[in-house]
Amino acid sequence: MPRKKEALRKKAKNKTGKIIPKKGKQESPKTAEKETKAVAAKKGFQLVRGMKDIVPKEGGYWRLVSTKAAAIAEAYEFVYAETPIVEQAALFVRSLGKGTDVVEKEMYFFEDHDGNRLCLRPEMTAAFARAYISHGMHSLSQPVKLWNIGPLFRHDRPQAGRYRQFHQFNCESFGVRDPAIDAELVSVAYHFLKDLGIASLVHMNSIGNTEDRGRYVVELTAYLRTKRSYLSELSKKRITKNPLRVLDSKEEQDQPIIEEAPQIVDWLSDESKKHFMQVLEYLDALNIPYALRPTLVRGLDYYTDTVFEIYEAEGETSSEPAQALGGGGRYDLLVEQLGGQPTPGAGFALGLERVISLVRKQYQKEDGTGGLPEQRSPFFFAHLGEQARQRALPLIEDLRQDGILVHHNVAKPALKSQLELANKLHVSHAVILGHKELQDGTIIIRDMASGIQEIIDQKKLRRELRKILEKQAAS
Ligand code: AMP
Repeated sequence: MPRKKEALRKKAKNKTGKIIPKKGKQESPKTAEKETKAVAAKKGFQLVRGMKDIVPKEGGYWRLVSTKAAAIAEAYEFVYAETPIVEQAALFVRSLGKGTDVVEKEMYFFEDHDGNRLCLRPEMTAAFARAYISHGMHSLSQPVKLWNIGPLFRHDRPQAGRYRQFHQFNCESFGVRDPAIDAELVSVAYHFLKDLGIASLVHMNSIGNTEDRGRYVVELTAYLRTKRSYLSELSKKRITKNPLRVLDSKEEQDQPIIEEAPQIVDWLSDESKKHFMQVLEYLDALNIPYALRPTLVRGLDYYTDTVFEIYEAEGETSSEPAQALGGGGRYDLLVEQLGGQPTPGAGFALGLERVISLVRKQYQKEDGTGGLPEQRSPFFFAHLGEQARQRALPLIEDLRQDGILVHHNVAKPALKSQLELANKLHVSHAVILGHKELQDGTIIIRDMASGIQEIIDQKKLRRELRKILEKQAAS
């Protein structure tokens, strides 16, 4: 052991396992760093509260869901785009509104080394609106339809289905105000879930334009004031701060008051009413199941007219208050508010953690067994010795380029353990490259069930494996 390391080891050996610097000596930053590492190695780092690893047994579900998202977004002609995770904090304060929980309590703010006030994006719509303006997308053919899947950050109270880093599938459509756009977005979200085997119900409402809402808020505030003493503490606070949010309350004691509250649909202008009716007509024509929810307001400042949320259809019957799988709506003033040209827009976001937990339920039994059917190759490539291992890699690459995938394990030198693994993977055939085959340019194909082996020219490997695949496909 090098002297330096040995000295460090001795230093590290006290009762607590901590490195103690020599008495009277100032601890150097390097020693401090080593100390931190030593302690961390002993204890192990913890996952940050509210964060979530995607572990291998979940990987297949993430791949499945993101593939489906890409397929449906592209079928509806949304184009993939992405924005940075870090944005100016003011972007979200301006667009979501000061009185919202996301801005007031949940945003991850920080100052960088240049003193800029930045944040980790808490949602996608404002970020995409910023990108639309930054890249002059108003000069493209409208609507500009963008989609992505990405991480969002909110310092929320962690609980089931609620994390501080989570992922959404987002679709946004900029540049056209037409009920068909709103309906198309609902349709994408609904069919994405349906394609994943999730039956959903869309909750629909309209919150009208700014003037409609302004008049309604006056009426709602007056009503809530008369009921103040019956409301929960949180809702009492919201009467002055953000009265629309009272309608979002999940507190039981607030429910009778919310039910009796004036309804925003009665304050809609003729134009907003007509727009909403047309959206519903489109949904009828598309056979999308929806329910009108007069108290649905979505709680963010940028929404205008159509708002919607999507719930699991059966979730309605459970005793727990159902969590929305996603939501969205129209935001016709957002781009202009952020400094762009007047540009209508609408979009939705679906939470992937919640969607994936429902997809997993379909495949997993209650005892935790079961899972996604894996698409495995029927071939295992076994090598005998170092030289064969070297030759195996280009042979496997040749096969892959021809669309033939094989299992292989570079870390198991013994042929016996490789064949044991092949058995575990239930492959139908093993391809074996030993010393002799290496010398004479041949290779063995072994039928795992019968044990019958065939020696062929290495050049014929592709053809032989393809024949086997075709035979298997036909049977
Ligand atoms: P929102 O824009 O807040 O309505 O969020 C849209 C969707 O994102 C929700 O319906 C959830 O599925 C998901 N979502 C929002 N916040 C979280 C969170 N903290 N953890 C997990 N998923 C979330």
